[in-house]
Amino acid sequence: MSTAQTPATPTTPTIPTTPILEIKNLKTYFFLEKSTVRALDGVDLSLARQSTLGLVGESGCGKSVMAMSVMRLIQSPPGKIVEGQINLHRKETDKIIDIAKLDPRGQEMRSIRGGEIAIVFQEPMMSLNPLYTIGDQIAEAVQIHQKVGRKEALARALEMLTKVQISAPKQRLYEYPHQLSGGMRQRVMIALALSCNPSILIADEPTTALDVTVQSQILDLMNQLQADFGASIIIISHNLGVVSQMAKQVAVMYLGKIVEFAETRELFHNPLHPYTVGLLNSVPVLGRKGQKVLVPIKGMVPTPTEKIRGCAFAPRCPQAMKICHEQQPALREVQPGHQTACWLYEGT
Ligand code: SF4
Repeated sequence: MSTAQTPATPTTPTIPTTPILEIKNLKTYFFLEKSTVRALDGVDLSLARQSTLGLVGESGCGKSVMAMSVMRLIQSPPGKIVEGQINLHRKETDKIIDIAKLDPRGQEMRSIRGGEIAIVFQEPMMSLNPLYTIGDQIAEAVQIHQKVGRKEALARALEMLTKVQISAPKQRLYEYPHQLSGGMRQRVMIALALSCNPSILIADEPTTALDVTVQSQILDLMNQLQADFGASIIIISHNLGVVSQMAKQVAVMYLGKIVEFAETRELFHNPLHPYTVGLLNSVPVLGRKGQKVLVPIKGMVPTPTEKIRGCAFAPRCPQAMKICHEQQPALREVQPGHQTACWLYEGT
């Protein structure tokens, strides 16, 4: 351990294979009447092709703002991407486009949203229209993004409902969202999201509202569909168990920044950042050795309204040192493929 005084050079998390999405120094702020909420404050992250990346952290860390920023669904005002890049490698041409620079309501972003990047939210009722049948909603999405007629779009809807293993898929085509159970609605959302064959699927707490058995079925389904469709997935969850079941790599977020990034197995067995250690110690994680007593992290995630001078975790960190309150540690690789932003590892 060292307490070196010079700030480290920032690094972007290692890219194991060709990336499909690269986020660089992304800052999304919300300008309120009396304050500015820095929900994302310099996020660097890379999603590899056909890989699953887990994004974890407590509520209020910025995980969902990250998803909404990538989808360009941040409500403006008061929200705005103020800096940074979201570089997407396009599906057909493989040209790189910075979607942070696109007009969120413009034609190009509308074709990317749903067609190349799709999202599944925690609560399907928020996304499904109660007035339209399931078949109508999936077929409409297909018709918007692919040049096909109504009959073909409905056939695609049936194919997708069958793929997500919903019971009686033909019958579901003509049913309304309120006629389905929570688990079935989430399957419909996944069918809807994958109906246009997107290259990236963002799943924001996709199983949080479901009971444990259905949760596990949905995760298995998503793993299966990823293998079938070859999409890259970002799975966002406060539940480390969910992430460990799906993700190849994990990024840990705290107060609008990535504080640790590693392969899933490495992160669970060798967490470096005190916040990650705290997260792992506060919940039971299946298969994690040596976990005997659950210890909650003290304090709460503060509201990110003030520019923080040192490490944002310092007020809650059991290992905080003098430098932690004075200078911000940068995310850097401290072991092969394992990055963290913490002064404890400076000089290693
Ligand atoms: Fe704790 Fe300091 Fe590391 Fe922040 S930089 S996590 S305060 S030891």
